[in-house]
Amino acid sequence: LDKLTLLITGVRIIDPAQGVDQPGDILVRNGVIESCGPAASVGGATVIRGDGLVASPGFIDLHTHLREPGFEDKETVASGTAAAARGGFTTLCCMPNTNPPIDSAAIVEFIKLQAEVAGPIHVYPIGTVTRGRAGQELADMAELAQAGAVGFSDDGAPVADGHLMQTALAYAADLGLPVIDHCEDPRLSRDGAIHDGWVASRLGLPGWPAAAEETMIARDIALAELTGGHAHIAHLTTAAGAELVRQAKRRGIHVTAEVTPHHLTMSEEWLMGIHGPAGAVAPLGTDAYDTRAKVNPPLRPAGNPALLAAALREGVIDAIATDHAPHTVLDKSLPMEEAAFGISVLETAFGSLMGLVHEGLLDLPTLVHRLTVGPASVLGKRFAEYATLKAGTPADIVLFDPEATWTVDTREFASKGTNTPLDGATMKGRVVLTMAGGQIAYDGMTTTEVTK
Ligand SMILES: [Zn+2]
Ligand SMILES: [Zn+2]
Repeated sequence: LDKLTLLITGVRIIDPAQGVDQPGDILVRNGVIESCGPAASVGGATVIRGDGLVASPGFIDLHTHLREPGFEDKETVASGTAAAARGGFTTLCCMPNTNPPIDSAAIVEFIKLQAEVAGPIHVYPIGTVTRGRAGQELADMAELAQAGAVGFSDDGAPVADGHLMQTALAYAADLGLPVIDHCEDPRLSRDGAIHDGWVASRLGLPGWPAAAEETMIARDIALAELTGGHAHIAHLTTAAGAELVRQAKRRGIHVTAEVTPHHLTMSEEWLMGIHGPAGAVAPLGTDAYDTRAKVNPPLRPAGNPALLAAALREGVIDAIATDHAPHTVLDKSLPMEEAAFGISVLETAFGSLMGLVHEGLLDLPTLVHRLTVGPASVLGKRFAEYATLKAGTPADIVLFDPEATWTVDTREFASKGTNTPLDGATMKGRVVLTMAGGQIAYDGMTTTEVTK
C-alpha cells in the first residue's frame, strides 16, 4: 500500500497540539493529511470506517533499543519497527548501546538506511555522549549531529564523570540537542539488580536505591543550569526525582523528563510474580521470582506508580518513553543477579497506559499528549509536525479502540524480545491501525472494515 488516498470516517479525533477532541473524518493524500475534521468526500479513496475508534497522531518514542548493529538475536531495525507499528508508534529514537555503538556518522547512516529498507516507521538515532560509550572522552558530537543524531546518551550507563557531563551539555547546547542521561550513580547502585526494598531483602540481593538516581538528577539539573544546556532525564522512577524536575522547571532551567509504561504501572512486587493492587499472585511455575520484571532503573515500591502518574498528568514529566529493551530468552533465564535488565515494551505500552485511563489516573487527551506533543517538544520544534493531525503535515496516524479487551500473547509479537511479565495479561485498549507518512505500517482491522 503505497501513498494511497485514504479516508478515515467517523472517528473521534484527538489532536492535543490543536486542542481538538471531536468526531470527524481524516483525508490523507500523497502521504500528507489533506483535511481533518468536518466530513470530507472524495472519489477513489480507500475508506477506513472508524466508528467507535479514536484517531490521534502516531506515537513518538524517545527511548527504544533496536539492538542493531551487533545484537541482532535480540532485535533488528526491521523487527523493532514492526513492533513499533503494532504498538501505534510511528517515530522511534533509538539508543546507541549497540556494537559498535552509535558514536560515528557511519553508524548513524547505517541505521537510517536499515530503517528506510524496513518500512515507513521513522527512526532517529541517538548518538553516544562518549567515544565507544566508554565514559572517558567525548564523542564527535558535531559529526553525529551532522549525520542526523537527535540527541546524545550513553544509556545503559550514566555519564558518571561530572566534568564530562558539563562539557557535553555545553556542546549539545551549541548543536541545539538534548543530552539524555540514564541517571544512576554507579557508586551508589553498585551491583544492585533490583530496587533496595523488601524483595531485595527477601532474595538476599544488594539493592539499587532511589538515591542513586535522585542524586544524579540533581547533578544534571545543576549542570544544565551552569551550562544553559538541555538535560533530558531518561526513565525517571521516583517522586523525589520528579520534585527536583518540578523545581528546576520553575526556575527556568532547561530540563525535561520521561517515564516508562512499566514504572507507571508496575512495582517491585512484580519481581515476585505479584501483580495488581489486589496483590493477586500470578502462577509462576517452579520459579521463585520473575526476571522478566528486572529493569534498569528498577521497579520501585507499590504506591510509586500512582505518584509518577500524577507527575505525568501535571506535565512535570513531559513524555512517556518505552525504554523497549528486547532480550533473548537465554538472557533472562538466569539467576536474578545475572539476568539481563529490560522489558520488551512496544507492543504492550498502549494497553498498559490505557489501564491508567480506565482507572481514572489520566484522561485520554492527556495520555495522547504525552505520547505525541510531549516527546516532540523534547526533540525540538522541527518535530512538531509529527505530533499533530493538522492539514499539511505528514500522515502519521494511529487508530485505536479504547474499549477493546485483548490478551497479551508474546508468541504474536513482531519484536524478537518476548521478555515481558505481561505475557498472558488482559488489557483494555488496543491499537488497530498505524499509518506512517501515509503508508499503512500495521493493519489490525478485519478486512471487511477496509473497503475500496
Ligand atoms: Zn537507561
Ligand atoms: Zn534504555
